[in-house]
Amino acid sequence: MRPLLLTHCGAGSDESVQDAADAAGARGMALLKRGRSALDAVVEAIVLLEDDPRLNAGTGSRMRVDGRIQMDAALMGGDLEAGAVAAIEAVKNPIRVARDVFDTPHVLLIGPDAVAFARSKGHDPYDPATPESRRRLEESLAAIRNGRLPRYARKWKLVELRDTVGAVARDRRGRFAAGSSTGGTSFMLPGRVGDSPILGAGLYAGPKGAVSVTGIGEEILKRVLSKFVYDRIADGLTSQRAADRGLALFPKDVPIGVIALDRRGWGESCNRSMAWFVSERRRTL
Ligand code: ASP
Repeated sequence: MRPLLLTHCGAGSDESVQDAADAAGARGMALLKRGRSALDAVVEAIVLLEDDPRLNAGTGSRMRVDGRIQMDAALMGGDLEAGAVAAIEAVKNPIRVARDVFDTPHVLLIGPDAVAFARSKGHDPYDPATPESRRRLEESLAAIRNGRLPRYARKWKLVELRDTVGAVARDRRGRFAAGSSTGGTSFMLPGRVGDSPILGAGLYAGPKGAVSVTGIGEEILKRVLSKFVYDRIADGLTSQRAADRGLALFPKDVPIGVIALDRRGWGESCNRSMAWFVSERRRTL
């Protein structure tokens, strides 16, 4: 089967980070063309995105209201194997820690225990903060102080989204994988976990395809978006139609983006701007 890969830089990202989506896509595709697995391609594409300080994953992640960075990441293969970390701190590449969780009997490790696990696997202490993370925190705190919260943030949901990352891939053997990684949203309480590390919400993969989504985590969790899109693909819809159906679950003021692929092709749907990459042009189905 022809390898296929999509990456995204988050609902709300723009053309200024398109080069990141492209570079991660190129890295993942190079691996797939050499016969590597969809899982490896997704991990390596996401590592590149996490290492880009402009993006809200790994280095450059958003801060919690207390100034700490807690990150979420997950990985799932078409055989339903998965690994994820939530609210993990002080590691460079949460997706690599998720890959290590993948090799354990568990699916999700959280908080300080996820950090301890990462250390036991050789992930050195690392500060993912950048001047931009601090600037964004100051902006959020000023908005809280001044009561200038947009309607959407009043229940501590979210004001602004940008630059979460994700990828989906299909390898030569027709295996699928999905991944996601994020520093979260603005206005996050410490300990908050979004959709990105939750199977069925932020990502899903199975024998029929793979899905990774971005947007307001709380809203995605309530609608179990990735599994919804995957199930539509399993029912026989194209990935594009399935992604569009998923997007239609949300009111327009909720930013949402979806990337998906299956045996026949791929789909992308977003109600905001989004930098994303696909390794092949759409085929007529
Ligand atoms: N879904 C992510 C979260 O809620 C944010 C995003 O996609 O930008 O943590």
